[in-house]
Amino acid sequence: MYIGRFAPSPTGPLHFGSLVAAVASFCEAKANRGHWLVRMEDLDKPREIKGAADTILHQLEAFGFEWQGKVIYQSLRNDAYAEVLQLLKDKNLIYPCTCTRKEIADSSHQSGIDGLIYPQTCLHQPLKRNAPAAWRIKTDDVDICFNDAIQGSIKQNLSQQVGDFILKRADGLFAYQLAVVADDAAQGVTHIVRGADLLDSTPRQIYLQRHLDYTTPEYAHIPIATNASGEKLSKQTLAKSIESSSTNQLLYAALSFLGQQPPLALKSASLSEIWLWCDSHWQLSNIPKVRKIAASTQVTSS
Ligand SMILES: [Zn+2]
Repeated sequence: MYIGRFAPSPTGPLHFGSLVAAVASFCEAKANRGHWLVRMEDLDKPREIKGAADTILHQLEAFGFEWQGKVIYQSLRNDAYAEVLQLLKDKNLIYPCTCTRKEIADSSHQSGIDGLIYPQTCLHQPLKRNAPAAWRIKTDDVDICFNDAIQGSIKQNLSQQVGDFILKRADGLFAYQLAVVADDAAQGVTHIVRGADLLDSTPRQIYLQRHLDYTTPEYAHIPIATNASGEKLSKQTLAKSIESSSTNQLLYAALSFLGQQPPLALKSASLSEIWLWCDSHWQLSNIPKVRKIAASTQVTSS
């Protein structure tokens, strides 16, 4: 059974980048006669825009997306994440860390793909008293390798390129890496189709899955929209096109972006006609690794 999912963060309404991820994960689930789940990644409450989760769900409905089961909200799953953290604690894989951001900046000598590499201070020295502690997982000096259905063979050495990463922050919030692994396992997700901005996170998630004895899903990372010089388009730029275009035009643009080459005649077709075309023409293998679009022409003209 194929189980896919779409997991937006409600930090604003759906934008073109998230629409593309929704289209790709949905079409791929349909092509495999699987289920498509929707999960709100709303762990970071301070960053959340009030009402955005509902707006996103209404937007998805307006496009004609259909999902199976109830929408899961990460903000309601703290107990599940605490259990997973405990499993890792029982295996002696995690340790508390009372370092401040400044202390890490002063003591770290190595930059990784996601900021400074934590120099394991709290693994080797006593903790500061009465200081709030984050929880970090020890990483190994081995390569994590996986084959991405779009991006190809990926290799990352966690201890050299990322370092011991946080699973629970000092302010009590569970980290995205832990939550996403716990949720994908709990929901039985078998295939993850999402934006390539998360490609760098995948080895951390695979590492957690291995230590938790979870099955690693199949991954496909779709290109993220960049401008002609390869810079990621801002959420504002991506959001603009959603406001100013109709749903059928946007769905057409998303399919073009994903390399599906929908025929010109579909450009003015109805939503249901375009979805029908997807049923017989969607091909994951047509998705390019990278995609550049001219910011000035916007996504709808591609
Ligand atoms: Zn520390």
